Amino acid sequence: MASVSHIKCPNCGVFNINKEYCESCNTLISNQKKIKEKEEVVHQKEIEEAIIELEKETFIKKLRKHPFFLMRFFGLILHSVWFVLTVIGSFIAWFIAMVAAG
Ligand SMILES: [Zn+2]
Repeated sequence: MASVSHIKCPNCGVFNINKEYCESCNTLISNQKKIKEKEEVVHQKEIEEAIIELEKETFIKKLRKHPFFLMRFFGLILHSVWFVLTVIGSFIAWFIAMVAAG
């Protein structure tokens, strides 16, 4: 026997069989599709974050090769601060993901 999924629409309460969208009001009711859409959003965000971090890194690398000593020193401090922020940021992101998943 094939598996049949009965999903109650959260919007209008109509039961739908093997449907991704509600027959009555067209609300997205498929959990699998919801998870997939969420994953796509997360993936898109990860790409954007990676680009931003790459840009930051290039900026700091340039600064660290600066001919003026103070600018190199400033770059070193920026690099340390940025590293700490990245660690804290990724921990918070992980924590939020864990809470959201739980
Ligand atoms: Zn509905």
